[in-house]
Amino acid sequence: MTARILSGKEIAKDIRKDLKAEIEELKAKHGITPGLAVVLVGEDPASQVYVRSKVKTCERLGVNSIEHRFDKDYPESDLLALIDEMNGDDSIHGILVQLPLPKHIDEEKVLIRIRPDKDVDGFHPTNVGKMLVGKPDFLPCTPHGCQQILMRSGIETEGKEVVIVGRSNIVGKPLAAILVQKAKGANATVTICHTRTKNMAEHTRRADILIVAAGVPKAVTGDMVKEGVVVIDVGVNRIGKTESGKDKLCGDVDFDTVREKAAAITPVPGGVGPMTITMLMMNTVRAAKLRIKQ
Ligand code: NAP
Repeated sequence: MTARILSGKEIAKDIRKDLKAEIEELKAKHGITPGLAVVLVGEDPASQVYVRSKVKTCERLGVNSIEHRFDKDYPESDLLALIDEMNGDDSIHGILVQLPLPKHIDEEKVLIRIRPDKDVDGFHPTNVGKMLVGKPDFLPCTPHGCQQILMRSGIETEGKEVVIVGRSNIVGKPLAAILVQKAKGANATVTICHTRTKNMAEHTRRADILIVAAGVPKAVTGDMVKEGVVVIDVGVNRIGKTESGKDKLCGDVDFDTVREKAAAITPVPGGVGPMTITMLMMNTVRAAKLRIKQ
């Protein structure tokens, strides 16, 4: 079997087309331009790439992007004061603080300071709670992107064995919470694996849908999956440079051996990555719309 490629890039394109129309309507009918503030502290190269790409996507869609960049020594107290200011600024609908933050800044303190109705990353405990009880305002972008890939590719999750490798607060845990809901695009039986899981391959081989977010290049190989599995590879690992000097990327799944057995698989790049940014735009538009209702 050679797998069908699930192109997050193409799915994201379709969603962005609809979002662009929604943004134009918001402007025309309500005089609202959705505004997203992105804060980057430090010089982490991957974060720089993500922020650049988020700003570019905002511009393409007609979202107003406000960028704040600070050096790695930026004090925590200044960052908290900036968040307070943005919380009170009506032109800003979404606030995103790029993670990871330098060690001297308490991430939890920062994330909790963002007003829940501007928390377009969906990391504030209020939004995590709403997600858990199945009444979300903002779903975290990467897990939501994974769910959208499955739904928009016509892959049923109901009653399926979904195995997730990774239990981070950003990907693994929220993804499990989303896919276990009594809802469309969910209703799955979910198992989460992590570094303390015994015999991980026993779990991954049971999976009808396998989602890998371990941060380890090629952690899942062909012998660890069953025939006909659907694989979503969240991993983004930089493994050198291409001839043109760009980062060479690979996922957490060994694409060549797994695609031989899988029914469908996401590529890296071009899979989950473009969906994550698109879900951020979706949340920003939602934040702007929620404001109208207030
Ligand atoms: P993370 O915070 O480092 O978490 C990794 C998780 O994987 C942890 O729960 C860890 O277990 C588990 N793990 C690590 N090695 C494992 C192994 N050999 N076997 C089983 N479990 C293992 O990473 P993250 O933020 O969730 O990100 C995961 C990957 O997704 C990274 O490659 C990241 O770059 C990528 N990512 C991509 C996007 C995107 O938009 N495409 C967005 C976010 C993240 P323990 O809890 O036991 O340590």
